[in-house]
Amino acid sequence: MFPGLMADKYPIWLDGEIVPYEAATTHVLSHSLHYGLGAFEGIRAYKGEDGRSAIFRLKEHVKRLFDSCRIATIEVPFTEQEICDAILHVVRHNKLAECYIRPLVWLGEGSIKVAALDNAVRVAIAAWPWGAYLGDEALERGVRLCVSSYSRIGVRSHFEKAKISGQYVNSVLAKREALANGFDEAILLDAQGFVAEGTGENIFVVRDGTIFTPPRGSSILAGITRDTLLTLAADAEIPVREETITRSDLYLNDEVFMCGTAAEVTPVREIDGRMIGNGRRGPIAARIQKDYFHAVRGNHSNHPEWLTYI
Ligand code: PMP
Repeated sequence: MFPGLMADKYPIWLDGEIVPYEAATTHVLSHSLHYGLGAFEGIRAYKGEDGRSAIFRLKEHVKRLFDSCRIATIEVPFTEQEICDAILHVVRHNKLAECYIRPLVWLGEGSIKVAALDNAVRVAIAAWPWGAYLGDEALERGVRLCVSSYSRIGVRSHFEKAKISGQYVNSVLAKREALANGFDEAILLDAQGFVAEGTGENIFVVRDGTIFTPPRGSSILAGITRDTLLTLAADAEIPVREETITRSDLYLNDEVFMCGTAAEVTPVREIDGRMIGNGRRGPIAARIQKDYFHAVRGNHSNHPEWLTYI
């Protein structure tokens, strides 16, 4: 077994029906495999203290999938409601109490010309158990980051608000570079040199009790976890400012944390060899992390609207 490979081969929802893991395939001449025009999501389900499992912010994720497809000029052959139902169906079918869910929309075989206006639009939804993306230890001890030599894809030629498959070459290369240099994760600056985000996470810094994060209008994915944390910070009466962040701000602060569906809320203990705060999870990161894990599990949460029970 290679590290990172799914532990078990769970059945997959493919174009309207559940098929065995081995049957969820596509042809080598699938258009998206060559040119990257596809869209995907990353969603999680958690089990609460009451024993019930729920998918976190399902509707928002499915809406973003359709928004990504709209930007990518892909017409999804299902409605948003049908995709929500399909996601619930595959999680129930696989009897998963806690899992990661990966919907993918892509163009199948047909024309291999660039425009490929008539190729079939395919949809798959996979779901499998998946622990902490950056490791269990990372959630407590924090991770070590580097500022990447790659810039975050620019707003002039890419779509920062869409999870379009081909755009992720940027993230894959930045992540590989960070790992090769001994770091856990990379932070990408935008074309102007301002802090954008991680390869699959949004970023927050804390200075003098205030949380700062790059504005929604910058070169960042409008993360659903980011939005969740902004709400949780407001609930906890922690001041938040959506503001441009420079590389100096990354080094000169009390705390840094990253967030994303996969990465959840992960503290940062070091950036480019500079220790952040006292080198461990700070009090605001700890508070936000605790509130986040309560919210996703529906434990002591004021936001039942975020949960779709399985
Ligand atoms: N930025 C990028 C580039 C991402 O791929 C992700 C993961 N979807 C995020 C941020 C975090 O987004 P979310 O909280 O919606 O998972």
